[in-house]
Amino acid sequence: MTKKWDPATAVQRIEQFGEFGGVNPSITDSATFTFLREKTMLDTFHGETEGCFLYSRHWNPSNKYLSQVLAAMEGTEAAWVTGSGMGAITTAILQLVNTGDHIITSVTTYGGTYAFLANYLKKFNIEVSFVNISDLDAVAKAVKPNTKIIYTESMTNPMLQISNIPELAKIAKANDIKLIVDNTFTPLIISPFILGADIVVYSMTKFINGKNDAVAGAICASLEFINDISNVNDGTAMLLGPVLDPLRSSNILKNIASLHIRMQKHGQNAMYLAKKFKSIGLKFNYPGLPDHQDHELMNSMMNDGFGYSGMIAIDMETPERATDLMEMMQERQVGYHAVSLGYFKTLFSNSGRSTSSEVPEEIQKEMGLSPGLIRFSVGLDHDIEKTYQIIESCLKDLKFI
Ligand SMILES: *Cc1c(COP(=O)(O)O)cnc(C)c1O
Repeated sequence: MTKKWDPATAVQRIEQFGEFGGVNPSITDSATFTFLREKTMLDTFHGETEGCFLYSRHWNPSNKYLSQVLAAMEGTEAAWVTGSGMGAITTAILQLVNTGDHIITSVTTYGGTYAFLANYLKKFNIEVSFVNISDLDAVAKAVKPNTKIIYTESMTNPMLQISNIPELAKIAKANDIKLIVDNTFTPLIISPFILGADIVVYSMTKFINGKNDAVAGAICASLEFINDISNVNDGTAMLLGPVLDPLRSSNILKNIASLHIRMQKHGQNAMYLAKKFKSIGLKFNYPGLPDHQDHELMNSMMNDGFGYSGMIAIDMETPERATDLMEMMQERQVGYHAVSLGYFKTLFSNSGRSTSSEVPEEIQKEMGLSPGLIRFSVGLDHDIEKTYQIIESCLKDLKFI
């Protein structure tokens, strides 16, 4: 395995120019494109022309620029950008399964993904097995002749469990199954394709864009897969139409240029808080410290120099205690009581009642999701020591420590 993958430098090597030599590529805000010759138009319909654009639901030059950068970051041949993370996840999944097929998934996933797999796919008579993704035997045992996908998240939401991507890839390859990995929590840090995954999906709404001004997603995969999803006759992306708007695409492209610096800072700040939380005896999950059950596994998979991401989940045991703490932290300007993550301000929410509320209570229990879990997305605070002092003052004033 090539451990020394450097996704940030792969991104920086890409040079893209605007029409007039602009240092940023020009934005193409056109839905349709003209052709001088009928034949070129027909060839483009059949995917047989290089560099021609037909219609923006299919491809757009601005989306191509962003896709090129994402593919470079993941080490994949190609990528396609969507109007949301769910657009990317549902497109990748629906492209690979037919009625009667079977999917194996981690039981801990983003709430929307869980709901899609548990509720929505029933319409198509697609069977889904929910497993503890750390239990590789359980994954292997769940494989059936009609299994088409193993689905997981590099760092699962909201428990911050780490998936063993190389081992899952082995099970997938041995059985001719595609491994899809949602890498939303760990861009640059973990490179799932380099580690053996077939398809990497993102909610770019989070760290990748990092500005909380847009909802967007991406699918990074082989050229064959990207051509399949955008095929005019039977491509899921082409026919369901979850394409990203090119104006947004050009904004996100510019934000990726600072992603490596942002990930480093999110990681440093989260590490600082985690060490402090440990010193005062809080119960929390953070894969950057050796006490976390997957710390060594994460070390074995991660690229150098981007930290352990900005996510910490602290367990306040009851929703009431979580609520009191979150409201006081917001009042005292630790950050915002909001869902989502990867923003320059710290965000916190009670996972069981918000982003994982789609997951039934019994399943929440089974996956070890405490009803008092507060998921922190640690921001880019310049003075994290001060931030910690405020959090500590909240905990003290509420008599939690
Ligand atoms: C937010 C999120 C999604 C969904 O992405 P949207 O952009 O909101 O559609 C999927 N997976 C993970 C891990 C997420 O955090």
